[in-house]
Amino acid sequence: MLMCRDLARIASDYIDGELGPMDTVSVKMHLLMCGHCRTFIGNLRHSVDLMKAHSSQHVDEELVRRIDERVTESLNARNSDNGKSY
Ligand SMILES: [Zn+2]
Repeated sequence: MLMCRDLARIASDYIDGELGPMDTVSVKMHLLMCGHCRTFIGNLRHSVDLMKAHSSQHVDEELVRRIDERVTESLNARNSDNGKSY
């Protein structure tokens, strides 16, 4: 069984999605039972988000989503246009 101190040790990996499936399940099980660690993870996630928002490597997810939509649209348009270029 995962202990609070174990969770604290791997919390940042959990937030970054870098834990293996087994560890991820262990963390989730622990969070279901432990309010302290839910608060801890919540705070940690919040500060990680803040850090990412202020980092120069920040990726604008909304922008990425719009680009994705544009690409999908043009692919669909091209398919329905039967190969004609634009
Ligand atoms: Zn705990």
